[in-house]
Amino acid sequence: MTITARPDDPAAAGNPRIRDGRLVPEVIRADFPILATTTSNGKPLVYLDSASTSQKPLTVIEAMDEYYRGYNANVHRGIYEIGERSTAAYERARAAVARLLNAPDAHEIIFTRNATEAINLVAYSWGRRNIEPGDAIVLTEMEHHANLVPWQLLAQEKDGDLEFIPITDDGILRLDVFEVLLRLKPKLVAFTHVSNTLGTINPVADMTRMAHEAGALVLVDGAQAVPHVPVDVQAIGADFYAFSGHKMVAPTGSGALWARRELLEAMPPFLAGGEMIREVHLRRSEWNEIPWKFEAGTPDIAAAIGLGAAADYLRELGMGRVREHERELLDYALPAIAAAHPDLALYGPMDTSIRGGVIPFNVPGVHPHDVAQVLDRSGVAVRAGHHCTMPLHERLDLPATVRASFNVYTTRADIDALIAGISEVKRVFGG
Ligand code: PMP
Repeated sequence: MTITARPDDPAAAGNPRIRDGRLVPEVIRADFPILATTTSNGKPLVYLDSASTSQKPLTVIEAMDEYYRGYNANVHRGIYEIGERSTAAYERARAAVARLLNAPDAHEIIFTRNATEAINLVAYSWGRRNIEPGDAIVLTEMEHHANLVPWQLLAQEKDGDLEFIPITDDGILRLDVFEVLLRLKPKLVAFTHVSNTLGTINPVADMTRMAHEAGALVLVDGAQAVPHVPVDVQAIGADFYAFSGHKMVAPTGSGALWARRELLEAMPPFLAGGEMIREVHLRRSEWNEIPWKFEAGTPDIAAAIGLGAAADYLRELGMGRVREHERELLDYALPAIAAAHPDLALYGPMDTSIRGGVIPFNVPGVHPHDVAQVLDRSGVAVRAGHHCTMPLHERLDLPATVRASFNVYTTRADIDALIAGISEVKRVFGG
């Protein structure tokens, strides 16, 4: 599956971040103030941990700053100028997110704190109403704990049955086994769009079609997809799509769930309190319309405004171009790392047409945490550990891995710094 630049990527004319249809990360970096900083030992920061959280561009930082300095007020309440401004900005952010995902209706976007909360919302609200004893829920072996543990809790409570699509040794889902699992007539199939550990880009539209043909609803965990590949929820056809803002150049505390209107309307509220109600009496209440039915209490208004600014920023870069940028970097990085360090263990699919900008690896004989610590001395920030996918590491028989991951601001120079840093790791550990 090749993802090429989308015809609806916005025009590049006049945008210095795009040249000859390609992103220019060296220009994009100037939008991210943190990338001009140095570590405490004077090394330029080489940030290769964007799968964990991304850095934030000025446009996002300034949108939040402007809100706090200029029109901080609660939303949907104040009948005064700054209250109306904050409500308008909050709802504009929702529309910006809907545009990024090509959602048919901005009211189908529910703001959450992150992907974890979005998935839990579905597990509690839809799951507790719809899963009955013996019902199957199909997941995959590569899920982040956020798309596993909520379903474990639900299955335990409802006496449901969890089944898992296995992976091949290079981290590709076994769709032949998926087909067999669908004969169990699961109520729900939930899978990640892009693996945070291996980078695998799953064929989500095909999987959704297969699940629907078997009568299941589909939840897609888009935490590692929205920042990196074009996401069109209508083309995917799923029922629920969850993601976090902080990995897509937006602030922490921002995220969203997209779901089809009729599902959201039928679902009971998740959290209860102010804002999610239309009418409250001492012994009964009526719920607000969607999306507000699912947004109880005062939301993180600044984070939502920042999320909207991030969605606009990515849309202007063009998600097709973002994807191509990361794929070109992978096409540079994988052979370069293998050539410089042939002894390194590299995991995940080697076909970059089905892989996002994630490079998990191990240096033989050196613990991943030691690798990360020595890389840190060179200013290179990577993550080491199980990346919240312990069952996947068990499946691959690995206690842990080191993971380098990209974003729009990642350059070939970052990859070169990683390669040099690995040489230093080997020097320190006598390899
Ligand atoms: N799913 C995937 C695939 C992820 O990579 C992550 C974050 N690492 C999550 C879910 C959870 O995201 P958050 O911690 O922002 O809720």
